[in-house]
Amino acid sequence: MSVALFTLGGTISVAGGSNRLTGAELTAAVPGLADLGSVLEVQDVESVPSGNLTLATMLDVVDAASKAVSAGASGVVVTQGTDTLEETAFVVDQVWPHPHPFVLTGAMRNPTLAGPDGPANLLAAARVACSPAARDLGALVVFNDQIHAARWVRKTHSTSTATFASPNAGPIGHVVEDQVRILTKPARQDGVPGRPEAADLDAARVALYTVTLDDDGLLLQGLADTHQGLVVAGYGVGHVPSALAPVLGALAERMPVVLTSRTGGGSVLRSTYKAVGSESDLLGRGLIDGGFLDPYKARVLLRLLLATGEGLDEITAAFAQHH
Ligand code: GLU
Repeated sequence: MSVALFTLGGTISVAGGSNRLTGAELTAAVPGLADLGSVLEVQDVESVPSGNLTLATMLDVVDAASKAVSAGASGVVVTQGTDTLEETAFVVDQVWPHPHPFVLTGAMRNPTLAGPDGPANLLAAARVACSPAARDLGALVVFNDQIHAARWVRKTHSTSTATFASPNAGPIGHVVEDQVRILTKPARQDGVPGRPEAADLDAARVALYTVTLDDDGLLLQGLADTHQGLVVAGYGVGHVPSALAPVLGALAERMPVVLTSRTGGGSVLRSTYKAVGSESDLLGRGLIDGGFLDPYKARVLLRLLLATGEGLDEITAAFAQHH
């Protein structure tokens, strides 16, 4: 048995100064990996801070991972920086067509620090990647011995090794001793249709706008001339200052505008509040209900959908899966 390991850089690989570990060096530092019963087939793809990753890079990794599972790998592990892991995992989840586990992980403490968490995370990720129990779950983030679904996982702390959490649902499983224990199996959702091309992703510009106190909305001016879509991270249950409501309504006549919450947990509402700038007012002006999807993942989804040529009805239906 084998697991395909793709390395993309990040803290797990930062070995002091500008020195970064290769996949072979990463795996050599993991006690217990040799007893896994699976060989890790390493492909070093990138060696970058994860803020430099792109959707196109992640889609290329998915293509290579597809080849690996078609050639017999039981699952896939990707190591990368943690800063964008909640977004890259969701990209993968939208396009991964196989039942095989696709696991993303990283580290919060680099290998030069006391108690680096990279080796433990890599071992746990490899266990999940070769576990039959983790099949049919799409993309997973395995970190700190917890297993998170890509659609729910968030980076919630700047330094803690327990940074990854799923505020709306909790982890779907745990790695306990050498066992992968899945507690709940969320049904897979429809991904985006097809595999977007890099040029189409470049042409699908999606802005993320977080509303803030005493917001004049100046940044929204002219947005429809430069962008093809917008995600609004509203206050609380999906509210904005009343002065912004007509501005967002006008934008929604020209492009898909998705309403999400800036709070980090919970869903936007639909029909509780009626004030100008409330959720029911904004939905009535044509904004799309983002449901439980957080603003960052909503931006990923809207960009992928636009890049695959989906129209407003299909985009609305895709977001409805997250209600
Ligand atoms: N925290 C960074 C990331 O998410 C790590 C930076 C680095 O790799 O230099 O990638």
